[in-house]
Amino acid sequence: MRATASRLFQVSSTVGRLDPPVEMEPWIVKLFGSVQAVREQRIIRVTDLVTLQGALFNELRARRPMEVKGADEMRRTIDEAVGDPFCKPATGTPADTFGRIHGVHGSTAANIAKYDGYHGVLVFEVHDPLAATDVAMISDHLTTARRWANAALEADPGARYYFLMWNATWRAGGSVIHGHMQMTTTRGMHYPKVEALRRQALAYQARSERDYFDDLWSVHEKLGLGVEAGRARVFASITPIKEREVIVLGRPGDDEGALAEGIVRTLAAYRSLGVVAHNMALYLPPLAPDGDDWRRFAPHARLVDRGDPANRTSDIGAMELYAASVIASDPFRVADALRT
Ligand SMILES: [Zn+2]
Repeated sequence: MRATASRLFQVSSTVGRLDPPVEMEPWIVKLFGSVQAVREQRIIRVTDLVTLQGALFNELRARRPMEVKGADEMRRTIDEAVGDPFCKPATGTPADTFGRIHGVHGSTAANIAKYDGYHGVLVFEVHDPLAATDVAMISDHLTTARRWANAALEADPGARYYFLMWNATWRAGGSVIHGHMQMTTTRGMHYPKVEALRRQALAYQARSERDYFDDLWSVHEKLGLGVEAGRARVFASITPIKEREVIVLGRPGDDEGALAEGIVRTLAAYRSLGVVAHNMALYLPPLAPDGDDWRRFAPHARLVDRGDPANRTSDIGAMELYAASVIASDPFRVADALRT
């Protein structure tokens, strides 16, 4: 397992030191507990050697209590938005040219300003974007979105790459408060980040004769960061894209329905940690064969916490966009929440 871990990850640590003036001390104690805590700060750097995704963890930042200051205001903002166009989708949203797909807990619309040739919205029946948290609801959403993708594929058989995303609340990029997911299909090849992962996993397999997704799970599981939920393997990533990233990993050949329990488990953990803004994305093989090797590509969902809506500072800066992710949350605390 150690050999597997060192094949997949490079881990190093360093200590950052500083010398604060006495005038700052009360403020430092209030924020970080003690002056000593900031004098020497341990930073752990983890790099996934296959994907070259990396994170810098600062123990000190992780120790700060998570307190969602904006929770009350957020509840008010959500409630005040009742009556928005998504509350009456038949008249408030456009339909796709192939019509609307109706599920039990939601129905589809066409996105008014499209990312791609086919770009739909799955409008949840329930307004509250934080209400979609049980397996029946999430399963139904995934099924309805997949039916939309199949209808889009029928309309344009060349657009065989399907992507599903969920921007829950404005802090996570959602421009409409009402609960919704979005779906796109695209042509030519999968979106660059999905295609890159497919190629990186194949290259890893070619040089090590090991399955990237299996190894990724094994290392996280052995570290105590993973739980199983239905058929899905769920873990708090040690190279998170941003705070509290959780991967819900299916088995090759599964469809996203196998991820529903894991997604629900993650959402429950997020709620218990005070997360009120999250993104989710599904990484899936194409809807129809494209001639490339997707056999070992494990379908999976990635979920990430986007922070406190009351915080006016963006959670993403130049460091995240161009270098590596800076992380305050501890994956081991996220794993604890996944287990309860
Ligand atoms: Zn609404």
